[in-house]
Amino acid sequence: MRAKKQNAQTLKVGLVDADLLDNGTRHPNLVLLKIAGFLHDNSIPFHLILDQDEDISKYDRIFLSRVFSFTSMPAFFEKAKGTKAEKIFATGGTGFYVDKQNVKEFSEERNKDMNSLENDPFLNRFPNHRGGARVFGIDMARQMPYYHLYDEYVDQQVESGFKRDKYKDYQKYSIGFLTRGCIRHCPFCVNKLESTIHPYSELEWFLDDERDEKGRLVRPYVYLWDDNFLASNVNVWRPLLQKLIDSGRPFQFRQGLDERMLAQSPYGEEMAMMLSKSKYHGDFIFAFDNWRDRDLIERALKIWKRNNPKKGTKFYLFCGFMQEVTDTNRFYRDIWELFQRIRVLMQYGCVGYVMRHQDYHKAPIANLYVQIARWCNQPQFYKKMSFWEFSYRNQSYWEENTLPPSGRPELMSFEQFEDDIRTGYYDRVKMCLPLRDIVDVLDMFPEHRDELIEMFNYKMMDLVNPALWEVPQPAD
Ligand code: SF4
Repeated sequence: MRAKKQNAQTLKVGLVDADLLDNGTRHPNLVLLKIAGFLHDNSIPFHLILDQDEDISKYDRIFLSRVFSFTSMPAFFEKAKGTKAEKIFATGGTGFYVDKQNVKEFSEERNKDMNSLENDPFLNRFPNHRGGARVFGIDMARQMPYYHLYDEYVDQQVESGFKRDKYKDYQKYSIGFLTRGCIRHCPFCVNKLESTIHPYSELEWFLDDERDEKGRLVRPYVYLWDDNFLASNVNVWRPLLQKLIDSGRPFQFRQGLDERMLAQSPYGEEMAMMLSKSKYHGDFIFAFDNWRDRDLIERALKIWKRNNPKKGTKFYLFCGFMQEVTDTNRFYRDIWELFQRIRVLMQYGCVGYVMRHQDYHKAPIANLYVQIARWCNQPQFYKKMSFWEFSYRNQSYWEENTLPPSGRPELMSFEQFEDDIRTGYYDRVKMCLPLRDIVDVLDMFPEHRDELIEMFNYKMMDLVNPALWEVPQPAD
């Protein structure tokens, strides 16, 4: 053991967050935090590589993680490919297989990836200090993350003029999975082949207790990456949720909670009540990914709003999946379903958050998704304006700040806008991109013109209806 420790101190390990190096993330990479935790436990020097042109000859091993398939690999990795230096890399993460279409290939790659660190010959030379059955090597569920891994990166960003607060995800949270897995088989999801949900880490395995000089917790919040916590067995989620509540720390499920479970589970009312009493951090986030779930979602919303009438509630709205440039029917259907989901959420006083699958780039008018997300994902716009008003306000704001004063209104109806087109206003004045997208989509679907204009005018303050969830009081 002693000999191993001496060897350990002369080693050097590089850790690479490929998404961060390609500017693609604002979350710390949990796998890297855990590898850093294991190295720290074993006094092995390590460093988060932040330079695309890092001299990698000083490292004995480099762990590189990539979450997104569109992330480019760093320059030092590309340079090492095909040379002896390539051997020091251990690469992994969903970004290496998430877009594999062949189910068998996807399944093999995922299984290999999920177990690769626990089978890593380098890590397996060193002892596990975190208990459980494992004597050597990392136990990913039990491993405490090393939460200072990104300190140098945050300091660099602050030095270049960014506010430290922008990086709170790297500094203020304990991070982990209480459960893993899902039962829903959504075809676009990395969990599409999973059929069960199992307990993963105990809260205390990743709950950080570091305090500052005044005795305050350095990381007072908890965020959880669980895939589908509420769909786990009642004997799993109930004690875990109680433990979270008892910890007294504000917590948040970052991937959203499965709202449908409130209607589907016999314990739905209890779930809503427990969550209503918890110190939840930020908005509650659920997902409304499929229009076909609308009845279930509405039943769940009634339970949720009865128990949480005042809590901020947000729903992820997945869209843009499997778009093809020539498939206008699929495109129309996707946009229609997106607006119908938004209408339901507005009726229940909830906000949406558009999550675009990267296939949206191939849609016939791809930029329409960008504009809808610009509107929907900023609650100050979504709560006060319809999509039409938001799009027109882009134009009037640009005119106010670019053209001589004209006395034109900040907002106008779609009919007034069409009058302007007819009378040649936009032959003289540039039309901003959101308005051009609206014109293009109406030109593409003349048969749906009225329906599109109606959808673009959905407005939360017109649609919200508390009678949908309030329980009628008995008459005296
Ligand atoms: S419910 Fe969520 S985690 Fe489960 S398969 Fe669907 S998208 Fe993935």
